[in-house]
Parts: sequence; C-alpha cells; structure tokens
Amino acid sequence: MTTDAAQAPAENPFDNAIEQFNAVAERLKLDEGMREVLRHCKREFTVNFPVQMDDGSIRVFTGYRVHHNEARGPVKGGLRYSANVSLDEVRALSMWMTWKCAVVGLPYGGAKGGVIVDPRSLSKRELERMTRRFAAEIGILIGPDKDVPAPDMGTDGQIMAWIMDTYSMMHGHSVPAVVTGKPVTIGGSSGRIEATGRGVLFVTQEACRDRGIELAGARVAVQGFGNVGSVAAKLLDDAGAKIVAISDSNGGLYNAEGFGDVDELLAMKRDSGFIPDGARGTRITNAELLELPVDILIPAALEGQIHGGNASRVQAPMIIEAANGPTTPEADRILTAKGVYVVPDILANAGGVIVSYFEWVQDLQSFFWEEDEVNVKLKRIIERAFREVAAIRDEHACTMREAAYILAVRRVVEATEVRGIFP
Ligand code: NAD
Repeated sequence: MTTDAAQAPAENPFDNAIEQFNAVAERLKLDEGMREVLRHCKREFTVNFPVQMDDGSIRVFTGYRVHHNEARGPVKGGLRYSANVSLDEVRALSMWMTWKCAVVGLPYGGAKGGVIVDPRSLSKRELERMTRRFAAEIGILIGPDKDVPAPDMGTDGQIMAWIMDTYSMMHGHSVPAVVTGKPVTIGGSSGRIEATGRGVLFVTQEACRDRGIELAGARVAVQGFGNVGSVAAKLLDDAGAKIVAISDSNGGLYNAEGFGDVDELLAMKRDSGFIPDGARGTRITNAELLELPVDILIPAALEGQIHGGNASRVQAPMIIEAANGPTTPEADRILTAKGVYVVPDILANAGGVIVSYFEWVQDLQSFFWEEDEVNVKLKRIIERAFREVAAIRDEHACTMREAAYILAVRRVVEATEVRGIFP
C-alpha cells in the first residue's frame, strides 16, 4: 500500500522548522543575536548502545535526546521509536516543543528524543532491554527538574514505566516525575492517554465556532489511527461528527456515509494491529485520504504529509494538525492561498503536553486528581490558548499558524531576555 510519505519529496523537517521560525522572527523584527540563539538546539546528544537480542547476538542501536531551549523551564518532549528517526527530525520536534509549551503557557522548554528502531521488529523482552539501556544512556540528561520525556510515535505507557524504573534504580529511590505518560498505578495521570486526542476535540470545537460551522454532521477524515488519531476520531464521533475515513501505515478506509461506530474499528485495530480490509468501507491509500471531499481533515501520523506536491488537491476547508509538522511550509503557502483554515500543530496537539504537565505536578506533590478535574483544566488551558491565538490572528490579519508562532516566540524571547546571557 502506498503512503503519502513515500510519495512526498524528501524534505528535511528541521529546515522546515527553521523556515517557520525565520518567518516569525522577521515579522517580530527580532535582532540577529536572538534569532541565532533560537535557531540552535542547546544540547544534542547522540548515543550508540549495544543490546543483547533474544538469540544471544548483539545489536547496536542509535538514539538521540535534543534540548532546543530551556529559557521557560525544564525541558519536555516525547521519545519516538521509528525506523525513520533522524537527528534532524528530533531537532525539529524539539524546536516545535519549545513553541508548543510557550503557546499554551506551560513553564517548560522544548526537547525530543528517539531511537532508530521499528519497535514491532523486537520481542517484548528485547524492547524492554533496549529501552532500559537507552534510559541509562540518557540518564545524565533526564530528571524531574531538568528534562521530562513522554510517549510519542512508537512508544507508550509501558515504555515510560521501564524508563521510570531504570532511572529510579540508578538513583536508589522511586522518581515518578522523571517521565509522564506512565500507567496510573505508578504515578500517571488520569486522562493522560486520551489527552492529545481530547485536546484535538476541544480545538476542533473552537475552530468550528470560529468559522461558524457545525461540528455535528461534519465529515471528518483522520490520517493515523494510533494514540492520537484513534482517540480524536472516537471523541469527535461522540460529539456528533461523521468519521468518514481513517488510516494507518498500511493504508486507509473510506465510507462517505460515515463508519457509524468508531468503537468497533478501535476493537478491530486492537485485535489485529491493523485496520482490517473491507471493515465497513472501501480501501484507499494514505495519499487518497488527504484529498477526500471532507469538511475537516485531521493528519495524526507523520510530518511532511501535506506537501508542495499534493496541497493543491486537498479539498478540506479546515485542517486540524494533530500530528507534529504534517504540513510543509510550501504546502502551507498553497493552503493559505486557497483559503484553507489550518489550526497548527503547536496548538492543535498541545493537549498531550498540557496533561503531561498536570501529571508532573501531581507526581511532585504526590497528590492525584480525578479525571474530571484533569479534563476541565485541559479544556480551560487549550481554549484560552486558542482564543489568544485567534485574537493575534485578527490583530495581525495573519494565519492561525503565524499567530501561534507570534505568541510562542514572543514568550520565549521575553524569558530569554529577562534571564540574560550567562556569564
Ligand atoms: P502512534 O504510534 O500511537 O500512532 C501513529 C499512527 O500513524 C499509527 O496508526 C500508524 O500506523 C500511523 N502511521 C505510521 N506511518 C504512517 C504513514 N506512513 N502513513 C500513515 N499513517 C502512518 O503515535 P501517536 O502518539 O498517535 O502520534 C501521532 C502523531 O501525533 C505524531 O506526529 C506525534 O508526534 C504527534 N503527537 C503525539 C502526542 C502524544 O501524546 N502521543 C502528542 C502530541 C503530538
């Protein structure tokens, strides 16, 4: 099955992140010194580490942890396990984390990490050994008051639990606040697993209000049926939207009338690992999904999916970027010219890091909240950020992405200036 990623020109995500930053730096008339500071990642750590496989052989893996900026607080960002992880991808993702934390007002800087591995190619024991060794390797960087990882593509609560346990063994006591996205039983937060998807729901509701359209009955296509995409699809379905297309790395399914029951699709995906053939829809490619006649398109898989080669064929008038970096700058210009309303990733998928922040606060206090409280606080923060971004968009007559970047970069610049340059 062809995916859009395969057809996209190979773009460097860090070049795209820099291009987005340069545009806002120009708009804000930042001085060259500040631009230089913010264009660079503060720390870039590469580790090559051996792991013993189940058959006794040794395999060397390569992993990264990058800190983009820590002016606003300890750094925060996910860990990705994927065969396509690269240093430039991790750099881009760490920069986007800086802006994301700033746009929603969290007291964090940005980081990201990853290992070049297809986690499905390892046994559970191999995955655990690799994770624990990687956690030990990056142990000199991470910690509850300096760098707090979380799940991203290819990682989950179990992997966070192994990292928390490894770090705790190295320090001689339990340190739950070293990672977020953990299982609730070891200090995870209620509502964390659904948080990114729930944030996507709140942002989509705000976007519909902003555009004066009804979410109920709106046709929605979701690319990526993992943690973020599947939860977003389920919650949007519950809110009355009509989910007409979903996909995973194997391709997608389309049903113009809507699938009806997203729970059943979730169960099928859980049981088989993939969206099964012919499950109440016709097979489509990931490329086709992006070009369907829908009201709302939600990319929730990889970066660079909407690019210069396909943006002109996107029919959806509204895009909610649940994935990080799904739209290249070239595609962004094409979409803007077409009048497509895009809610940028740094706002649209911030629900995950917001509830990660709640988890960290709860761990530090050893005082845990009910799920209702988590969801109410998440809604308040993400809706406030949406309104702040929309107000800047109206003031500057710019796009939602430019407005989000103006708000975020301004906040990071302010923190950098007030702290000053050491020594
Ligand atoms: P995941 O691993 O749970 O799911 C990823 C999904 O994308 C899977 O369904 C996979 O089959 C699909 N996919 C993989 N390659 C694909 C391809 N070539 N074409 C189409 N689909 C493909 O990951 P996730 O946590 O849901 O993350 C998805 C996106 O959301 C990523 O961009 C991630 O950085 C971003 N994000 C995640 C969180 C979080 O809390 N997990 C928070 C913010 C942003």
